Amino acid sequence: MREPDCELCRADRFTHWYHEDDICWVADCEACATPMVVWKDHGAVAPEEAVEHMLGVLSATADIRFGPGGYRIDRHMRQVPGHFHAHARDPDWQRRSWSEPLSVYRGVGGVRETRSR
Ligand SMILES: [Zn+2]
Ligand SMILES: [Zn+2]
Repeated sequence: MREPDCELCRADRFTHWYHEDDICWVADCEACATPMVVWKDHGAVAPEEAVEHMLGVLSATADIRFGPGGYRIDRHMRQVPGHFHAHARDPDWQRRSWSEPLSVYRGVGGVRETRSR
């Protein structure tokens, strides 16, 4: 199910996408530049197996990006409370979101590249 007015349902491919499967996708959040897993269905509450799958995929992504233990999973849904998503935040994410250019979409997976300023 999709919701036309929901930005997570629209799933714009703008920043780097780390992963995509039938249940979810993982990309850099446009607002805070940290890896974020997004459920492909619209709804705040996903089935438990889907949540486990999504948090597993997000952790695997963040293990590569930040190293195991170099981040925490943040399940608080501030900007889009009606659509399940979770962030993997490294301790430095706030400074990075202000100072680093956003990553760029070049297809799913592959090397993460940032925009030139
Ligand atoms: Zn974010
Ligand atoms: Zn949605």
